[in-house]
This record gives sequence, structure tokens and C-alpha cells, in this order.
Amino acid sequence: PYTTLFRSIFYSEELLKDNIDNLKLANQLQYAIKNRELTLYYQPQFSLSSGKITGVEALVRWIHPEMGFIPPDKFIPIAEETGQIYEIEKWIINTALHQKALFEQDGREDIDISINLSSKALASEMNFYAVEKLFSSYDIDYTHITIEITETAIISDIGTAVDRLKKLKKLGMKIALDDFGTGYSSLIHLKELPIDIVKLDRSFIKGIEGDSKNAMIIKAILYLTKDLNYEVVAEGIESIEQLEYLIKYKCQTGQGYLMSRPITIEDLCEKLEFGFEWKL
Ligand code: C2E
Ligand code: CA
Ligand code: CA
Repeated sequence: PYTTLFRSIFYSEELLKDNIDNLKLANQLQYAIKNRELTLYYQPQFSLSSGKITGVEALVRWIHPEMGFIPPDKFIPIAEETGQIYEIEKWIINTALHQKALFEQDGREDIDISINLSSKALASEMNFYAVEKLFSSYDIDYTHITIEITETAIISDIGTAVDRLKKLKKLGMKIALDDFGTGYSSLIHLKELPIDIVKLDRSFIKGIEGDSKNAMIIKAILYLTKDLNYEVVAEGIESIEQLEYLIKYKCQTGQGYLMSRPITIEDLCEKLEFGFEWKL
């Protein structure tokens, strides 16, 4: 009994401490945009047939003045909780679309930019309206913009989500289903959704090695998504073996630490400048 009591006290203290930490972070997040502590990193995406960079995924970073690097997995959920996500998201979209315009000025019209959209952006009517307005306010070629959403963003109200995604697609943008293979992801849902790209989750790609059943599932999904006319992007490629397998079964696009981590815009431009490729 003592140990359980001790454990439960200890546990609630931990929880309390977590909550206080989160409150502090939420408080400091208010100044993050104004103080220019947020920045976008870009992870290159490669054509697995040519080895060339075809696009990038924009990933937000918070460089806190005292605490240093705070991962998005940590602060995005807090921002979603407090509603700060709306302002952060606007900043992310503006920064990424501005970058797209700069690419076009530099003669890099063909580089795709993927932007992650929080499930909140789609769910709240007022925020969606603001996001839609923002997305139509740039004079750029929207066919090279992809919006990444997760299934949780859709599943609670499929009808509304489908309507809203269709509105965004009218601008020419593509929609990618992120983290496919986790959570509720079901192939049955796929066909109801106005989706162009399926992103195979990292946990799936990990499974290529070792367990042959996993590898067979991936093979089947690659065949199926191809028959259904979806483009497939494999995420989290970390080994040559994984890359070889994905190439063998004709996965079109891939990203992962093996080829490149998310990098600053300066490093990205350098890679593009000297025509960085990833060949086996
Ligand atoms: P995500 O959208 O699934 O992004 C991919 C994450 O996997 C990124 O983590 C990326 O750095 C990491 N990654 C890429 N390749 C590899 C690999 O080969 N191995 C491993 N182990 N990891 C790899 P990151 O940047 O820390 O972002 C984590 C999550 O935070 C994202 O997952 C996304 O859900 C969210 N996030 C990041 N940026 C944004 C954003 O701008 N807006 C929104 N709404 N969410 C964001
Ligand atoms: Ca993503
Ligand atoms: Ca993902």
C-alpha cells in the first residue's frame, strides 16, 4: 500500500510539474513570433527514380532564448490547446508561401513546398476562413504547394473536412495524408477523401527490415495506392536497405535522414545550387 501511495503522490507531482512547465511554455510562446524565435527548416524530398530533389517539407522550429531548441512535438500540442496555433500557423503559411515566391524569382518554379496543417485549422470555421484567405493571397503557382493533414484532422467530421479540403484544392494545391499507417488510417477512408498523396509513416518504413510480413504489407500498399492513382511519399528513410526496397517496389518519392535531415533555408539553397542528388 505504501508503495502505491508513494507512487500516486509522485505521479501527481510529476503531472503538476508537467502542467506548470507547459503553462510556462505557453506563456513564452506568446512572444516567440514577435521575437522572431520561430524559424522554418526544410527537409528535402527526393524522386526515388532520378535521385533529384523534387520538393521540401517545411518544419517549424522554436529556438528559445534560454532553453534552446524546443521540438515541434512539444510546443505544437500546447499551442493547439491554448489556441495559439492559429497565429503560429498563419506565420508558418506566410513564411512558406513567401519562400515559394522567392523560389520562383530564382528560377526554381519546380520545387514543391509541403506545409503541415494542424487539425485545428480545418476544424474551426473562423480559422479555416482565415487560412483559406491567406492561401489565396499570393501570386504564386499553387500547383507546387502541398498541404499535409493527418487523419485525426478529418475523422471527427469527414463531411466538413472534405468540403474544406476541396475548397483549398480549387486553388490548385495538392493534399497529402500524413502519417499513413498509424492510428485509425484505413484504406476504406482513403477513397472518400480528396487526397492526392499518401505519406507512409516512419514506423512503417522501419518495418521493412527484419519482419518480412511488414515488408509485404508495404509492398501491397505501394501496389494499391498506385492502382488508386495516389502519389506515395515514404517518410523517415534511414537505411540503404529501406531505400532499395522502396525503389524496387516503385515508390515515387522519399525523405529521411539517410538523404537529408531538415535543414535551414541557406543550406537548402546551397544543395539546390550544386544540384545535390541521392543515387544508390
Ligand atoms: P511530421 O509531419 O510527421 O514530420 C516529420 C518528422 O519526422 C519531422 O520531425 C522530421 O524531422 C522527422 N524525420 C524526418 N526524417 C526522419 C528520419 O529519417 N528519421 C527520424 N527518426 N525522423 C525523421 P519534427 O520536425 O520534429 O516534427 C515533428 C512533428 O511536429 C511533425 O511530424 C508535425 O506533426 C509537427 N510539425 C512540425 N512542423 C509543423 C508545422 O509547421 N505545422 C504543424 N501544424 N505541425 C508541425
Ligand atoms: Ca508532415
Ligand atoms: Ca509524417
